[in-house]
Amino acid sequence: MRTAICTAILIPALLVPPLCGQTRDQELARALVRRALEDTAGYHLLRELTALGHRLPGSPGAARAVRWAERTMTSLGLDNVTLQECPVPRWERGERETACILDERGGSGEPLAVAALGTSVGTAPGGISAEVLEVQSFEELEARGAEAAGKIIFFNRPMDPGTITTFAAYGGAVGQRVQGAVKAAEAGGVAALVRSVTTKYDNVPHTGTMSYRDGVPKVPAAAIGLIDADRLSAALHDDPHLRVRLSLSCRNYPDTTSYTVFGQITGWEYPREIIVIGGHFDSWDKGVGAHDDGAGCIQALEVLTLFQRLGIRPKRTVRAVFFMNEEMGLSGADVYGRWTASNGEDHIAGIEADRGALTPRGFYVTASPERLEKIQSWLPLLQEACIDWVKKGGSGGDVARIHEPEALVGYVPDVQRYFDFHHSANDVFAEIHPREMELGSAAMAILVYLLAEYGL
Ligand SMILES: [Zn+2]
Repeated sequence: MRTAICTAILIPALLVPPLCGQTRDQELARALVRRALEDTAGYHLLRELTALGHRLPGSPGAARAVRWAERTMTSLGLDNVTLQECPVPRWERGERETACILDERGGSGEPLAVAALGTSVGTAPGGISAEVLEVQSFEELEARGAEAAGKIIFFNRPMDPGTITTFAAYGGAVGQRVQGAVKAAEAGGVAALVRSVTTKYDNVPHTGTMSYRDGVPKVPAAAIGLIDADRLSAALHDDPHLRVRLSLSCRNYPDTTSYTVFGQITGWEYPREIIVIGGHFDSWDKGVGAHDDGAGCIQALEVLTLFQRLGIRPKRTVRAVFFMNEEMGLSGADVYGRWTASNGEDHIAGIEADRGALTPRGFYVTASPERLEKIQSWLPLLQEACIDWVKKGGSGGDVARIHEPEALVGYVPDVQRYFDFHHSANDVFAEIHPREMELGSAAMAILVYLLAEYGL
């Protein structure tokens, strides 16, 4: 680590003694952590944001949130507050969203907890009533293709509970949500019902994105809560010919326009060297996107406000970016990324917080070995905010679109519980713990300070 230049920082004397170099950086790291935990300013901003409702791309809630973000960044005195236009899909869940196991007379029997998947087509008003084929994989569906025609295909493979990293377990199960409708339709099925991709054993369905393919009929697709998934599986064991009725009024509309919002503290020495810290501003509509990813956006903003509160003037520009529409196609990230290819700025780093506001654990870094090593050398400072490791790994979909960054970084908290909330009605402000969230803000503030001070 190079020796710091003390003039870059105007820290209130009582908070941080006027030291130079490593000792000064250590004191600064401690001050960032203390200030984050004492003020809980980000936590209260997230309360304000989530009170506006969900932020499904193209929804009135997303439009309210964009105005709130612009107002908030402006009132905080950030430089260059910008709304960057991007196209977004528009899909509405609608009022009707039910499923049930039909009784012997074909009447509505036991209800099942379901939620349409994002961009799914709806059913006719009376719903789809059909027998059900339960499978664990696309391979099994292919092998049993002769049984699939006219049925609701029930993809019931759970996240692998033995996998230590929940994101890896998610990756192992989410394919049936994303591609289930196409696979069901190709096999002759009339709808897809997908076991929620979650770690929490409750009956709350978890939505998420899905896709259709040109030339393959679009069949409706919905997630089902785990308790009802197991109940349906047991009922099918007893009666393989039982029928389920699925009724959805969701629908797609033409694309509309929304905005990625950003603001910055302009670097006093290298204003065109940019450190982006961000999350995605859109959310799913069943909760309010508190963990995914309201918290990530607000933590990014809080890095800047912590600098303000501690009188830190970064040498390089630090920009908080609230990317629009990660969930349904990363269109905000695409626009931002294209802009960085031609705007004359150099992006030193893109840091993404999109794994929930839980206790800090580490940072994944995509960079040359030398740059990774340099960031790793800062671990003793990052440990002040409970960061245990810095290692090679993925960042996030939004920052990954930035043109030729020197490093991409993913903030990694303890994600054991993240998929309890993810994409569901469980993702509400009450599930955010202020200490966990604020420690994350502080961890990223330490990293961003070091990047701004020393570069890569
Ligand atoms: Zn997310």
